[in-house]
Amino acid sequence: MGFAIAIDGPAGAGKSTIAKAAAARLGAVYVDTGAMYRTIALYLLRTGTDCEDTEALSRALSQIEIRLGYEDGLQQMYLNGENVTGLIRTEEVSRMASISSSKKEVRASLLKLQRDMAKSQDVLMDGRDIGTKILPDAQLKIFLTASADVRAKRRYLEQQEKGVECTLEEIKADIIERDYRDMHREESPLCQAEDAVLVDTSDLTLEESIETIVQLADSRRARRVITAETAGFCFGVRRAVETCYEEAQKGRKPIYTFGPIIHNEQVVSDLEKKGVRVIASEEELSEITEGTVIIRSHGVGRSIYQQIERQGLTLVDATCPFVKKIHKIVKEKSEQGWEILIIGSADHPEVQGICGWISGKVQVIATEEEARAFKTSEDAKICVVSQTTFDSKKFSKIVEIIKNLRYYYTDILNTICNATEERQAEARKLAQNCDAMIVIGGRHSSNTQKLYEICRSECEQTFYIQSLVDFDVSLLPSSGCVGITAGASTPNNLIEEVSHQCLK
Ligand code: C5P
Repeated sequence: MGFAIAIDGPAGAGKSTIAKAAAARLGAVYVDTGAMYRTIALYLLRTGTDCEDTEALSRALSQIEIRLGYEDGLQQMYLNGENVTGLIRTEEVSRMASISSSKKEVRASLLKLQRDMAKSQDVLMDGRDIGTKILPDAQLKIFLTASADVRAKRRYLEQQEKGVECTLEEIKADIIERDYRDMHREESPLCQAEDAVLVDTSDLTLEESIETIVQLADSRRARRVITAETAGFCFGVRRAVETCYEEAQKGRKPIYTFGPIIHNEQVVSDLEKKGVRVIASEEELSEITEGTVIIRSHGVGRSIYQQIERQGLTLVDATCPFVKKIHKIVKEKSEQGWEILIIGSADHPEVQGICGWISGKVQVIATEEEARAFKTSEDAKICVVSQTTFDSKKFSKIVEIIKNLRYYYTDILNTICNATEERQAEARKLAQNCDAMIVIGGRHSSNTQKLYEICRSECEQTFYIQSLVDFDVSLLPSSGCVGITAGASTPNNLIEEVSHQCLK
């Protein structure tokens, strides 16, 4: 369903004029359901059908094909292919519509047509039972009314302008009779939906009435966008990227990064334009004879430092200090004879880098099953560390399992960095309170993938995008709250651009 506004109210409250103008201002399709009942009434009049005769009424309804069309934005009613828009506003048709619309067969014949109208487009639909029966899930329901005196006066002036002979008393009596019929019929009586906003137009001008509806719709429809405070570059990544730009500015070429500096293709290609090239493997590194090699925030094993030194290259270490701390822990612990158990993804460069500082035995696990299957010698001293970007909840569960295996010495060090935990916690909370979530980050960024998993578990409409190219704003709900978070390697300007697009 698109954004739906249901306007119900008694005859003569100005619904159709107000609704038509408000729909045009809101860019919604105006659906006048009264015109549908009027079209049926016209057919019943033409064929002299007695609507108290259920059989005759059903027969007549089976011979009617009603269709809606739009010409210059104005709703047109087609009765068996004939455009009858200009023929359904007479008093005779009004009276017949008021009577026949109380019949359940008539109402049932229009239900599907009316509901279908709101399925794939934003609509502003007016009638008597739109908010209560046809579109009970409409995002905005309005009960539009005015006192009987005011409505009678308005209709009287309208009729006078058309040159129709009538008295104010006659019109008022007719309005009161129609109100009574609308409100007391068995089928879909006119009443204000519990969650409808009452708009009394007795003392409002036409323009004020339209404005009231537009403002109500705008306040409901407005898409709010909340960007997580922790979205994007963490301290370690910002430092590494800044280091690259600083090195590029110094102009001492060639400059290399061992692996892409971050999991973000745009940043990597921007740096490439500034002369910072990516070394993809140890073999490639071994072929380099001069220049600077920057080690990215993920860090690397000791052998890479040694290789860079051996080849006489300049080393710039942008390893995240939190990762560096893990290197120090595992180096010392393994030298002291501890076995290292890393909780993380074995193929992630950070974990491979950590492994490169361990002189003894090491195992890497990422799941609860792997934890249950963990085995080592009974007298082993086990030091547990985690990849800095590991999901903290999963880490706790895995640690519980490891503890229950009851190895004699187990030293558990939660080395998940605060930035990751905070980003994940904020993303979870935001996703719980949003109608849609956007997670921005590289396809290969494991922390972005985890953010996506967390958000998806809390908010069904979660979108994972890498850049503006794969961002389709039309997939977002037109109203409500859209939350944005981003992985540790997503640059701020991209987050801002996405947020900007959401508000368009
Ligand atoms: O709104 P309008 O006066 O054009 O409606 C024509 C008739 O159709 C009214 O008498 C009203 O009772 C009936 N109607 C209805 N349910 C709707 C819309 C109109 O019963 N949703």
